Amino acid sequence: MFEVLSLSKKPKDIRQMVDLLKQGATLTEYACPACASPLFRFKSGELWCAKCEKRVVVIKEGEDATKVTSQAHLQALENTILTKIQAVEQRIRDEEDVEELQKLNNALASLLENLEKLKKMKTA
Ligand SMILES: [Zn+2]
Repeated sequence: MFEVLSLSKKPKDIRQMVDLLKQGATLTEYACPACASPLFRFKSGELWCAKCEKRVVVIKEGEDATKVTSQAHLQALENTILTKIQAVEQRIRDEEDVEELQKLNNALASLLENLEKLKKMKTA
């Protein structure tokens, strides 16, 4: 069983797709559930439909589809938070104004708090 996720990062253009292939993405025997195009597999193990520009997850037999999907969502959310944390960190490094630093610190604290919560949800 397959499911197409819309939360995937999509390659911006064909050149990027070609780069991915150069990096070792391979064609698989699987077909996209949405458009029936052959799926590519990234080195990370992710399946990708080049036509839909979407990530496809394979749900193993007996595995709960809802759980797999929500785990993927949590992972995507975690990646977003990690990116934000890096951005705030960068600003803290460059910021001289004490008031701004305070604001950035607060932002960082709540981001870290959310990250903690997410990690708990993932292991739950
Ligand atoms: Zn497709």
